[in-house]
Amino acid sequence: MAAGGSALLTRLQQLPHPVSPADAQGVEQLTGDLHEALHLLGRDSEGQPTSQLSHWREYFGVPEQRLYYVNEEISYNSWDAPPCWKFREWSLDSQLYGISLRLARDIYQTLDRFLTQHAPEVVFKALAVLAKLVGNVADCGNTIERFRSVKLDNAKFRAAVWDVPGAAQVLFLVGWRQQGSTLSLAADAPLGPLRAAASRLRRLAEKKGHSGEAVAVRPAAEDGSRPPSQYYGTPGLRYQEQIFHCSVCDRPINDGSERLWTGRHDAPPGEYRYECSTCRDAGAPFNLCQGCWDVFQTQQAQQAQQQQQQLAQQQQGSSGGDGGSSSTSGSHYLHDRTHAFQHIGPRMTRHNDYYGSASSSSDPSNPWGNRPRGGGYGRALQRLSERYGGMRFA
Ligand SMILES: [Zn+2]
Ligand SMILES: [Zn+2]
Repeated sequence: MAAGGSALLTRLQQLPHPVSPADAQGVEQLTGDLHEALHLLGRDSEGQPTSQLSHWREYFGVPEQRLYYVNEEISYNSWDAPPCWKFREWSLDSQLYGISLRLARDIYQTLDRFLTQHAPEVVFKALAVLAKLVGNVADCGNTIERFRSVKLDNAKFRAAVWDVPGAAQVLFLVGWRQQGSTLSLAADAPLGPLRAAASRLRRLAEKKGHSGEAVAVRPAAEDGSRPPSQYYGTPGLRYQEQIFHCSVCDRPINDGSERLWTGRHDAPPGEYRYECSTCRDAGAPFNLCQGCWDVFQTQQAQQAQQQQQQLAQQQQGSSGGDGGSSSTSGSHYLHDRTHAFQHIGPRMTRHNDYYGSASSSSDPSNPWGNRPRGGGYGRALQRLSERYGGMRFA
């Protein structure tokens, strides 16, 4: 194990852009794999810092009750935090609470997994109860005996935590043990893990994310950042930042993000969206899916054909008394024929086309809401210091 660790550190130092042991920050405790280590450290394959870390921000999507992550620099969005971002959180917990990187990682990962394991109301109820339980012990330095144990026949605890698969796992990670019908903690249980778990539980329970700084993003109905849809985060649309529904058939229009990002051939292919720019400019968005667009086009083609036939009949001198009544009336069209439509194709690249203009917060193609700027590792340490009452972190 130690040999594997030092071999990794040696390899990190032999890269074209060497990573010093100080910069490696204990990564050897988590992996012996060079590739994985570079990911965790936010370095490219030559060891060069990718400067990605400072561009990642954590958000809380209010409609989905779910965290997501945005890279401002490359306009890349993800439900999952990137490895370098997670590693920073683990490093900070490790330094702050004097716990191993492995335990810091395990606490983070256990809670992170739990966040999407059940319906949001179940998850946040459990987190609130856990935050109180672990917080009570951490706050008093585990000096108050009654905080150390929970009866498993406590109805509230049972319903909120014990009966929810995965919820109690964090308690076992930081020292609780089951003895018969009681969960209890030793009087001399190490405080570091308890404090680390308590602070993370509180931030997550308060919907402030892992960082404690997740920005809440509401649907379009509330602040105009995203169109409302109940399909966000659902299979086939998991990676889609913005879900438009067809204004005629109400189907969600898939822009192909999931297939693009996962590379899975069984993910649904993207389709075109047809947006009426006349209506959009008038503040009443109107979109058509591929199927409804085809119907709309057919209607227009039929109308054009009928008009030609009528014209031909008139030229032949035919009285054509019923000509007017047989033509398709305007009410048959799916939309006003005089309006202009924009054809929006499926996503072809992971990076948005507006690369380089990401600093503009008024960018209409930024679907995940506003992106506050400023930050980086130094800032992360500073905010940690503020969060914990002026403690210093190197
Ligand atoms: Zn449709
Ligand atoms: Zn229109």
